[in-house]
Amino acid sequence: MNYLPINIKLKNKTVWVFGAGEVATRKISALIKVKARIHCFAKDFNDAISTWEAAGKLSTHQMDLEDIDISNLGKKPQLMVSATGNPIVSKQAYEFAEQHNILLNTVDEPDLCNYLTPAIVDRSPLLIAISTEGSSPVLARLLKQKIEKLLPFGLQKIVKQAKSLRPLIKKKIKQSQARRAFWEQYFDHDNQLILDETQFEENSTQAVNQLIRHNQTTKGKVYLVGAGPGNPELLTIKALQVMQKADVVLHDQLIPQPIIDLIRKDAQMIDVGKSAGNHKTKQANINQLLVEWANKGLRVCRLKGGDPFVFGRGGEEIQTLNEHGIDFEIVPGITAAIGCAAYSGIPLTHRDHAQSVTFLTGHCQSSQDTIDWQFYAKDKQTLVVYMGLIKSPVLQERLITHGKNPEEPIAIIENGTAENQRVVTGQLSHLSELIQEHDVQSPALIVIGEVAQYAEQFNWYNKNEAITKLKLSA
Ligand code: SAH
Repeated sequence: MNYLPINIKLKNKTVWVFGAGEVATRKISALIKVKARIHCFAKDFNDAISTWEAAGKLSTHQMDLEDIDISNLGKKPQLMVSATGNPIVSKQAYEFAEQHNILLNTVDEPDLCNYLTPAIVDRSPLLIAISTEGSSPVLARLLKQKIEKLLPFGLQKIVKQAKSLRPLIKKKIKQSQARRAFWEQYFDHDNQLILDETQFEENSTQAVNQLIRHNQTTKGKVYLVGAGPGNPELLTIKALQVMQKADVVLHDQLIPQPIIDLIRKDAQMIDVGKSAGNHKTKQANINQLLVEWANKGLRVCRLKGGDPFVFGRGGEEIQTLNEHGIDFEIVPGITAAIGCAAYSGIPLTHRDHAQSVTFLTGHCQSSQDTIDWQFYAKDKQTLVVYMGLIKSPVLQERLITHGKNPEEPIAIIENGTAENQRVVTGQLSHLSELIQEHDVQSPALIVIGEVAQYAEQFNWYNKNEAITKLKLSA
């Protein structure tokens, strides 16, 4: 470690900024936030800087920087930023800073800096600074974006409130250990009671009591979380947040290891993966488990493949939770149809080929007879069949019998969006043969309709792999 990260108070301190380009403007914008007394030296000033000057937020000093004599600019500053890109100015500024012990940052010149500016995640009073000691500002910015996404949106409010609560909590909870426990629970729980600021100011003791009571009686909650089709990059920010704060996770078989690896390490994991055939009892058990865990006051994450409400039985689970008066939240996920279509290049509703898209399940045996096959056999629509491998011969036969073109393009997507995704293309009359010939395994999705032809053309995801364009050899 070559640099010590510290937070500097610059309110009312003099700061000199050399240059008035895009980078200087960015630096000035941050300096305005901390209420520094800013002097900007440059030949021309852009609109942003002129507007700030008009608002009294900085002073400009117009000059040709080529001729600048830094030692002659008046009262020495606390900090300088050199953003001119001019080596003569940079060198002069550096020598001046070193001589007078002034903090200096020269943009893109780590050797001419005695401090570096980190990338900042600003949820003040919470600040997260990321520094690569000047070796890669781009990496710092990328990490900043990742951290931004991970932080809950209400965090700023929570931290602000914590700041104003601190003295009172200290007075009310004398024992330091008990105080720490309070704060841990306060920050750890998403059911925090955010008090209205005026309410808080008017009667702070009562407000604190309310908070302490609230934290002591926190109830459990169940999150029904859609984990998407399998690729961890397709998780939503919300899903990741819930996975990282859950006390217990009940997950399906469909959830692949790379997603499991993102779950909070000390969460209790329960695999409730169910295989076809014994749904009924299992589902009832799952519903019961959710109730039991939530009743212990825990945060329960029910992690499901795709979206919880698309062939995911999420409806039954929340029905049970509702009956037991348990709080729940639904976190949508990218359903297999949407994920597989994107990752195999099938525009589900391409306007030349489809006016609608239907998500069908091929799984439920009894429904084969009640299905309106005539309706599904109509032209210019896309059918996406979930759990359709086993029943594919019936599906193919019924559709064709009811008038679907036997040459209608189809695509079968196995392990869609995952690294080992396979896409098999062909025509409807070969559907079940293709599945057999290529030994297509679950999870797989069948897309039927003119749009399926695009899987050959637009499969950007695994286009270089030989397995992509398998076709029935006969
Ligand atoms: N709730 C899920 C669907 C659960 S039903 C969702 O919204 O996606 C399980 C079926 O979904 C599988 O049999 C398969 O047809 C489909 N499926 C799920 N993930 C898939 C994937 N990665 N690739 C292909 N099909 C998938």
